[in-house]
Amino acid sequence: MKPTPAELYASLISSTGEDLQRPGLQGTPARAATAFEYLTSGYKQSVQEVVNDALFPSDSNDMVVVRDIELFSLCEHHMLPFIGKAHVGYIPTGKVLGLSKVARIIDMYARRLQIQEQLTHQVASTIAEVTGAAGVGVIIEAKHLCMMMRGVEKQNSVMKTSAMLGSFRANLSTRSEFLALLNN
Ligand code: ZN
Repeated sequence: MKPTPAELYASLISSTGEDLQRPGLQGTPARAATAFEYLTSGYKQSVQEVVNDALFPSDSNDMVVVRDIELFSLCEHHMLPFIGKAHVGYIPTGKVLGLSKVARIIDMYARRLQIQEQLTHQVASTIAEVTGAAGVGVIIEAKHLCMMMRGVEKQNSVMKTSAMLGSFRANLSTRSEFLALLNN
């Protein structure tokens, strides 16, 4: 039988030489397993379920921007958190997405083992797909604990990634409008 996540955490903790029987650690394998399950719960979700038809008709084709969406994910190389903000813009063509759904799409992909570049692209292409937008731009800025706590131990570096699709890629003035809205 495959060991449970809690059993795996127990052996991981034991490998440090720690005593799993001391009071502070007795419930830790089970708690850590529950936390890990939550932090990777995005694998069990689908776009359909997350969007849940929260698409509303709109005859505006002005840019929609949602910025400073908090983001927590785990890097797939070290399984340490990266933490930051996502900014999303799109130009609707008849349909707009419920505001909270933008955040839920981000969470679904962020609660998986990730690299920031891929996360940025997945969010952009999902928003393009579900809304049929003329263009989508996503920028993510994040601090990676794998860089801050280990390795080069750089505390202040922020990684920025962007994905520009459709008119956000083809049209400089659209892209500039998006970037200007983020800086206001
Ligand atoms: Zn890492």
